[in-house]
Amino acid sequence: MSTLNKTHDPAAKSWVETANLLEAEFSIQNLPFGVFSIGGGDKDIGVAIGDRILDMTAIEQHGLVRPDGERTVFDRAEINSFMALGPAVWSSTRAAIFDLLHIDNHDLRDDADLCRQVLVAMSEATMHLPIYVRSYTDFYSSQEHATNVGIMFRGPENALPPNWLHMPIGYNGRASTVVVSGTEIHRSWGQLKAPDEDAPHFAPCERLDIELEFGAIVGTPTALGETLTVADAYDKIFGYVLLNDWSARDIQTWEYQPLGPFQSKATATTISPWVVTREALEPFRVSTPERVKPLLPYLHEDAPGNFDINLEVQLTPEAAASVTLSATNYKYMYFSSAQQLAHHAASGCAMCTGDLLGSGTISGPDRSSCGSLLEITSGGKEPVSIADGATRTFLEDNDTVTLKGYCQADGHRVGFGMCVGKVLPAVVHRGHAGA
Ligand code: CA
Repeated sequence: MSTLNKTHDPAAKSWVETANLLEAEFSIQNLPFGVFSIGGGDKDIGVAIGDRILDMTAIEQHGLVRPDGERTVFDRAEINSFMALGPAVWSSTRAAIFDLLHIDNHDLRDDADLCRQVLVAMSEATMHLPIYVRSYTDFYSSQEHATNVGIMFRGPENALPPNWLHMPIGYNGRASTVVVSGTEIHRSWGQLKAPDEDAPHFAPCERLDIELEFGAIVGTPTALGETLTVADAYDKIFGYVLLNDWSARDIQTWEYQPLGPFQSKATATTISPWVVTREALEPFRVSTPERVKPLLPYLHEDAPGNFDINLEVQLTPEAAASVTLSATNYKYMYFSSAQQLAHHAASGCAMCTGDLLGSGTISGPDRSSCGSLLEITSGGKEPVSIADGATRTFLEDNDTVTLKGYCQADGHRVGFGMCVGKVLPAVVHRGHAGA
C-alpha cells in the first residue's frame, strides 16, 4: 500500500509556471496520464502539467524516463502497457517525472530545443480514450442514490434491496461504448411503456439522464480463480477518471427486471481524458461511511479507501449560460472502489488491465448534491430551473453536460479536468417504420 513521498509535498513547485496557480488542476502533485494528438498526427501518451502536456512518448525516446528498461511502453495509443507494469513501476515513473518538472531541476527546463520537442500546449491537443477499455462494470454503491431511486422504482418499504448493505451491487456493462470526453451522443431508441399502457411502443427515449460517477481503472490483472483482499485490490487500481453513465430512464423502467439494466445504459458512457493516478490521490484518502451492518470478512477494509474529491455537474443548453445542477463529493460512497474490485474477483473472475469500474451514481444527502436528474427532479415531477427562465426534467436535444472534479490541498489542487458530452437528436432508426 502506497504512502506519502516527495511527489506529495504540498510546497513543491514546477518550472512550468501555470502548474503553480492556486486553482491549477494539473499541479506537479497531480501528473495524470492521457493520450493526445496534434493536428491529426499520431497518438502519443502524455502527462498533464499546468496548461502543457509532457510528451511521454518523446521523453521515453530521449531516455529521460524509461519505465521498462530497454522495452518501450509509451509509444502506444493507450496506457495499458504501462499500467500492466504494476505499482512499483508506476511509483518510480511518477517520481522521475516529478523530478524532471520540479522547479529546482534544470535538466529539461534549460534545454530549449528539447522543451520544444517534448512540451506541447494543451489547447492545441486533441484528447483520445486514454485506455483500451477491456471490460466495463457498473456498480451502484451510493446509499443515498440507491435509496432515492429505490423509492421511485419500488416504494419506500423496498427502497434498498436486502442485499445492498452486504455487497457492492453491480452489472456487466458495455466496454465498446465507453467514449472520451467531447464525443457527441445521439438520443437512444428503445421500448417505452408508461404504467397505464397495455403494451410498449418503440421510440426515442424521452427521459434521458446523466449519472455522475467515478471510474476506477484496474492496472494489474488477476488470474482466473485468483481472489483478492481489499488491500490487494487497492494496490491493483492504477487511477481514476470522471464518468458520465448516460441512462435512458424510461427504457430502464420497462426492461430492468429480472436481469438489470441493458439497453438503457448501452448508448454511451463518457470518461474524462486524464487518468489521475491512485498515488496522486493518497493525501486525500478518507474512510467509507459508518457501516449500517457488519460486512463479511472478505470485504473488510483496514485502511481508508475512499477519497475526498469535490464533484460538480453543469448543464449548458444550446446558446445559453451554464448552470450547476449538482455539487457533491466522492467520499459519500458506501463501498470503495477497492471493495468493489475485491468483490468482483471474489468468484474467481479474472480482472484485466484496462477494466473500468464505474462507482455508481454519486449522490449526497440533499437534492442539490444528487448525481442524476432522476433524483434532482424527483422522477421528473419537480423541474429544475436553468438559464433564461427555462426548466428541465430530463435532458433535451443539444444540451451539453459537463462533469468536473478536484481534490483541494493547502495551496494546490489535484484536478480531473472535465468530462463533457452533448446530446444530439435521435438518428433515423432503420428498423422503425414510422421514422
Ligand atoms: Ca451507472
